[in-house]
Amino acid sequence: MLPSAHDKSLPNNAVTREEQLAHVLAERRMAARMEKKTAGVAPLDAGLVFDQAHSDGVRQQNAYRRERGQVDVTDALNHDIRGKPGVSIAEYKLANGDVEYIHSSNYGTIDDIRNPGKPLF
Ligand SMILES: [Zn+2]
Repeated sequence: MLPSAHDKSLPNNAVTREEQLAHVLAERRMAARMEKKTAGVAPLDAGLVFDQAHSDGVRQQNAYRRERGQVDVTDALNHDIRGKPGVSIAEYKLANGDVEYIHSSNYGTIDDIRNPGKPLF
């Protein structure tokens, strides 16, 4: 599980579970609104829905981060590890140039977090 925004020991720009909740809730709301608006009119392009919904998720995530005095997340990439099913490294790029890496296995169990400003190895 990601650390909580209430954890006072976290580095300033660490990724938290609360900002992820803000992201996912905004993302799902936008997707539902798009689907409702076009219901019975035209089929939606799944890629378009994801792009727009995800964009709104990032916007709300960053609004939450700014409220807490954190810099924006500018990009989040997931890197699957070749030959290791279910193992991946998430890479969160931050507006100040720092990066946070989250290593997970079993399709989402977090094993290690390298907070912003710390090298991956
Ligand atoms: Zn998203």
